[in-house]
Amino acid sequence: MPTKKIPTKTASKAPSKKSTSVTPAKKAAPKKSDSGTPLSVVIRRRILAQKARFHANDNIAQFIQPGELEGLVDEVAEKMQAVLESLVIDTESDHNTKNTSQRVAKMFVKEVFNGRYVEQPTLTKFPNVSRLNELMIIGPITVRSACSHHLCPIMGRIWIGVLPSKESALIGLSKYSRLTEWVMCRPQIQEEAVVELADMLEKKIKPVGVAIVMDADHFCMQWRGVKDRDSKMVNSVMRGAFLKDSNLRREFLSLLDKR
Ligand SMILES: [Zn+2]
Repeated sequence: MPTKKIPTKTASKAPSKKSTSVTPAKKAAPKKSDSGTPLSVVIRRRILAQKARFHANDNIAQFIQPGELEGLVDEVAEKMQAVLESLVIDTESDHNTKNTSQRVAKMFVKEVFNGRYVEQPTLTKFPNVSRLNELMIIGPITVRSACSHHLCPIMGRIWIGVLPSKESALIGLSKYSRLTEWVMCRPQIQEEAVVELADMLEKKIKPVGVAIVMDADHFCMQWRGVKDRDSKMVNSVMRGAFLKDSNLRREFLSLLDKR
């Protein structure tokens, strides 16, 4: 039914795809495989073959081949067009919605949910040469996400506390933001998002303790539902030393209050 030809943008700025693959990244994106199977089905089959999970907040980059994201954008656009039609919006004569399906598809795949489709940002780790073992606090880091229940925006801030051990590998400060962005650019549930981030940091840095506090506005409470403009959600994860040592936890939380 969607007869409109959607232009394939091959030259759009692809978010740093650090693929080590030898395949040239700029090959024409097939929307369907040779057998006419939609690309999403092809990708899903690869995931299922590995018995991997593909929940909204999972990253599936390893199952996507170079060039396929463009094809996925086109497939989503086609289905988004059908949604607009079902909403009885005249996308033919309404110039505002003429390319909305393509715009929304691109926004989902290449921007706001991009953390599902691209590989983890590379984190250069360096040894803890000065053997730091003092509390470090990084933040506030801006968080932009969306709830996986309604796909409504979640906008907030995150603070990360790290207590490195003398043996910990450290990562550059900007990497905390990149890693946070990668996790948050997926449909998320705040409680799960912070846990995922904490797991990742524990694995990368192997610290004595990690603490994360997230404070966010949930637009599904403000734009719809109870329409409570001031509702916020704050939650935290405490790991290792932050869990055992109440003084350390207090120090971390008191430093956040000063911001
Ligand atoms: Zn929601």
